[in-house]
Parts: sequence; C-alpha cells; structure tokens
Amino acid sequence: MNTPVTVVGLGLMGKALAAELARNDYPTTAWNRSVTEVPEGVTRLASVAESSPTMVVCLSTYEVMYEVLATADLRGHTVINLTSGTPGEARKAAAWAAGQGAAYLDGAIMAVPQMIGLPQAQLFYGGPADLFESCAPMLRVFGGATVHLAEDPGVPLLYDLALLAILYAAGQGLAHAQALVATAGVSATQFQPYANAWLTHVIGPMAGPENARAVDEGEHATDVSNINTNALAIGHVVRASRDAALPVDWLLAQQARLEQAVADGYGADSPTRLLDYLTEETR
Ligand code: NDP
Repeated sequence: MNTPVTVVGLGLMGKALAAELARNDYPTTAWNRSVTEVPEGVTRLASVAESSPTMVVCLSTYEVMYEVLATADLRGHTVINLTSGTPGEARKAAAWAAGQGAAYLDGAIMAVPQMIGLPQAQLFYGGPADLFESCAPMLRVFGGATVHLAEDPGVPLLYDLALLAILYAAGQGLAHAQALVATAGVSATQFQPYANAWLTHVIGPMAGPENARAVDEGEHATDVSNINTNALAIGHVVRASRDAALPVDWLLAQQARLEQAVADGYGADSPTRLLDYLTEETR
C-alpha cells in the first residue's frame, strides 16, 4: 500500500496536488482553513494535528505555513513544503523543522495546477538526498520532471525565482510590444503569430547551450548579433516608445549597460558579456 499523505492547503495548487495523489492511489487526507471543495478520493481533516506522518504543504506564504503548522506536533513527520517564497525563507524553514523534530524537503513548482501530473510539469526539491529518494515515488506523481537539485533547501526557490525573472522580463516585453503595435491600430490578435514566432525561434534559443557556454567560459565572440548593433537597436526602441508616450524606464538600465560596453571597447562582442556589468552593479 502507498504511504498515506496529508495535503495542507487546498488552494488552487493544493487541490491539484491532493487530486493527483488520490488518483495515484495514495491514501490522501487534506486540511484547509476555510471550507472548500475537497477533490474526489480525498478525506478532509478537521485539524492539522490529525495529519499523516507525510505532509505536503502548499500555502500562500511561509508566514502562513508557520502559523498553520504551529497547531501540530511535527515530531517524526516529514514535511514537504511547496509554498513559494525566497531561498532564505526555505533555509530558515528547514532549520525550524529540524528544531520541531521533522524531516524537511523544500520544493518549487514550475507549473500551473492544470499541469500537475503531466510530463512537462517541473518540480524542484532541495534537502537531504536520502529523504528525497525515499519520497521520490510519491513526489513523481506531481510531474514528469521531478528533480532533486541540492542538499541546500534554498536552491529550488533560487531556480524558481531565476525562472520567474525570465517570465516577468518576457511578460513586460510582450505587453510593451502589444502597446507599441497598438499605436498603429494593430490588435494583439493580429500581432500574436509574429510575437509567438519571435519567442520560439529567437528568444527561446537564447537560453541554448551556446549562451550558457559563453557565460561560463567568458567567451563572448559572436557572428550573430553584437553589442554595437544591440546598443543602436535598443536606442530605436526607446525613441519610438517615447514618441508613442510609452514608459521606457524598464529599458533604460539595459540601454545604459549596452552603451557602457560599447564605450569600454566591447562593441563587437556578444551581449552575453552584459552579465559582467550586471554583477558589477550588484557588488
Ligand atoms: P491560493 O490563493 O489558491 O491558495 C492559498 C492557500 O493558502 C489556501 O489554502 C488558503 O486557505 C491558504 N491560506 C492563506 N492564508 C492563510 C492563513 N492565514 N491561514 C491558513 N491558510 C491560509 O494559492 P495557490 O494554491 O495557487 O498557491 C499556493 C502556493 O503554491 C503559493 O505559494 C504559490 O506561489 C504556489 N504555486 C502556485 C502556482 C499556481 O499556478 N497556482 C504555481 C506554482 C506555485 P483558504 O482557502 O482558507 O483561503
């Protein structure tokens, strides 16, 4: 028989996790603060204190997690926390759980609820490797790409936030692009195939192995598109956006880095060199 599991938190994501556990024949119980629909095959608990020894926690914040778990005796429990936050919050929670006598894995879900259980759902875990291995058969029901990244419980959320940084930059760029074309009466629907092709064939490959190698090895020669060209191009975007009365603040930092790199004599290099400027700014 599969290990019984309790899901703590039946929000949009918690419901999907509980439903997937039940679908895969894990005896599943669940607790939620407010009365909400419980997925098929899942039994509602009246209090967190009734939890099974294995708990999957999916609440809105770490503060909420502390508040909710304070109502239970966690000695001998395994807490798998899939609540989003920062790497620092994850490390603090791991130390806190150890103090409560609980084994702890921190995780990050790189998927929306509708993707839970599908091969393309990525879930990252951090914490003791042997603990992950013992939980892995159960954790793999959540997604095909279930990975233990590190013993450091902060690493999954570090990856999560790094990927979200890409998401928010792309989202900002897409919204700006839609606002720009709208100045000529072009709808988002008319523009969509071109935006999609651009993201698929130009932006996606930017995260390919050549980019990673260039960054890791500091090898920035390019025969594709150099810093000179991009410094001019971003200038065109900034000027056209100002003409259209669109905000350009989010573009100016990148424009300044490109122009500084040109001034420093790196105009013929790939924009991969800009990472050096970014890390200098944070020093
Ligand atoms: P929801 O807002 O749907 O659910 C939030 C959950 O937290 C609910 O169970 C809610 O209970 C509970 N909660 C909030 N405040 C309190 C409190 N003070 N005391 C007790 N319980 C509380 O969010 P999601 O389910 O979408 O997200 C949950 C976590 O999963 C978040 O950390 C989120 O970042 C992460 N996640 C979500 C993704 C998504 O696409 N939805 C994707 C990847 C990660 P109640 O029902 O009573 O309000």
